[in-house]
Amino acid sequence: MNIVRQVPTKGTLRRIFKRIIFGKRVHCPDCGSRSIKKILSEERWRCGRCRLPFSIKSSSWLKGTKLSLEQVWLLLWCWQKKFSIQHAMNMTELSYPTVFNWYQKFREKIPKEKLDALLKGNIACDEMYTKGNAVIGAKQKGTRNIALKVVHQKSVERHHAVNFLTQFVKANSSLFTDGAAIYKGIDKWHKLKHTYEIPSKFEFALTAEIEGLWACLRTFIRRMYHHVTRYKLEDLVSEFCLRFRQDEIFENPENYLRNCLSPKPFAL
Ligand SMILES: [Zn+2]
Repeated sequence: MNIVRQVPTKGTLRRIFKRIIFGKRVHCPDCGSRSIKKILSEERWRCGRCRLPFSIKSSSWLKGTKLSLEQVWLLLWCWQKKFSIQHAMNMTELSYPTVFNWYQKFREKIPKEKLDALLKGNIACDEMYTKGNAVIGAKQKGTRNIALKVVHQKSVERHHAVNFLTQFVKANSSLFTDGAAIYKGIDKWHKLKHTYEIPSKFEFALTAEIEGLWACLRTFIRRMYHHVTRYKLEDLVSEFCLRFRQDEIFENPENYLRNCLSPKPFAL
């Protein structure tokens, strides 16, 4: 794989970042004024109204980083490709803490509304257990539409299931679960057609889908992060959810930046 081909030229990168951060015309990130002057080189500007000096990086959450735009782009690409931290270190020649922190940052900057999934139709719901935590999950049958939620205790209780299903599953959907007690009588709390004694053939297909989902999640965590302990499990689960749904933010660095590099809103 040719690394160089993954990173556009310096000029192209600046154009991409500029367009994403400022839109058609560069403006002051603080007061919004379009009366600006280039200072020194093309790297920085100064606002004619409030005198603020600013750059591409200082006008977004890239503020304060010592990394070049090329390095940010390459790290982003490694993260999208699910490279382990070690692999990304080899590719970028950056240190463990640097890669670790940028992976964390990429995850944290995903807009929360991206996670507002609503499932409908035939829904399978199940739980997964991992090192003292539990994850409750639902999958819309035959689609990549999923919702997952971390429960910070060893077992999932009925109120967790009720809250989860109310939040993520549309009323009047059909819910399929195993015979676990937490789901019994769930239709009293949320309007769902609940089936838990499923004909064996159908159950097999459904179980296979949700088991496949848990297997993917476990592999994702193991391969990419080895240990969950240093990351927040919620963040990893959210990242996994969006990857599973094949969200466009994982397609290429530009798509990610267009969705997630929102600059500070300026006062007009
Ligand atoms: Zn200004």
